[in-house]
Amino acid sequence: QNVVLDVRDVEKTYEVRDRNAIFAHRKVQAVRGVSFTVRRGENFGIIGESGCGKSTLSRLLSCLEAPNRGQILFEDRDIATLRGKDLLALRRRFQLLLQDPYNAIAAHSSIGRTIAEPLLIHGLVPRREIRKRVSAVMSEVGLSPSLYDQLPVGLSAGQRQRVNIARALVLEPELLILDETLSALDQVEQAKLLDLFETLQARRGITYVYISHDLAMVRRVCARIAVMYLGRVVELSDNETLFASSSHPYTRALLSAVPTVEEKPYKTETYLLEGEPPDPIDIPPGCSFRTRCPFAFDRCAREDPRLTLLSDGSLSACHLEGSGLPAVDIAGLQPV
Ligand code: SF4
Ligand code: MG
Repeated sequence: QNVVLDVRDVEKTYEVRDRNAIFAHRKVQAVRGVSFTVRRGENFGIIGESGCGKSTLSRLLSCLEAPNRGQILFEDRDIATLRGKDLLALRRRFQLLLQDPYNAIAAHSSIGRTIAEPLLIHGLVPRREIRKRVSAVMSEVGLSPSLYDQLPVGLSAGQRQRVNIARALVLEPELLILDETLSALDQVEQAKLLDLFETLQARRGITYVYISHDLAMVRRVCARIAVMYLGRVVELSDNETLFASSSHPYTRALLSAVPTVEEKPYKTETYLLEGEPPDPIDIPPGCSFRTRCPFAFDRCAREDPRLTLLSDGSLSACHLEGSGLPAVDIAGLQPV
């Protein structure tokens, strides 16, 4: 089995109360027909601005919510149909790590107990072996087992995130979904945790889905990358193609907005990303990027572009189909 996750035309909408009419509800289209596969042992990246549907997608992939339409297949089974012990087993194999390192950590519970908790819930090891198992995982993530009986007070954000990683690792997951997991940490701590993830991958064969707005980080670690805009994947490419010659105007704008090491944006008059994406309640017809696209033409207002396979092997959803776009200089883009 080479494919861990097969995401097929997944859609997720939420009902929200209309601000202007008390009893009326309107639909927020958070994820609008997303398809991709994640291969075993790879680092798959999902990038986009906040509000593009990344976090909704991470909850769908983690089986915390079910899509309204479409399927997420794991080992040929639709994860939304799993119940009981099948669902529990899936929850063990897929672990979601969020940005806030304070999230899952209870102040009154010792670090060791916090890490052991999922083991107890899943009943995976006999009680007398828990301390041994947890201590081993603590060492693996760079936490001294001498912290086992201590309270989390005084732990740095990076150490807290290591506690969360350890909590996930005790369950021996196959897939880690990292939703902005490193965003709250400083660059040094980020680099250390990226190294840790790499080591864990080599040792345990874990597959990662990095969900992030941090292009430089995704560039450093991800082999294949999906770019999301307003609930859609607008481009899906391998790392080199995306960063050297991306096809979609939105990706190009996103890349040109990345600060260089000198903290300066690129000098690209045409590609600066301006304005905000439209409200996901009122998505305009046609191409959803057209309100910000410098290349929009009449067809873009009439017709919604579908993902199309380009000659460089990437997928792009744009009526220009990559032709006639001037090149963007991304030489200044530095990895973390
Ligand atoms: Fe721009 Fe049109 Fe391409 Fe959309 S389809 S990204 S509006 S050129
Ligand atoms: Mg988010």
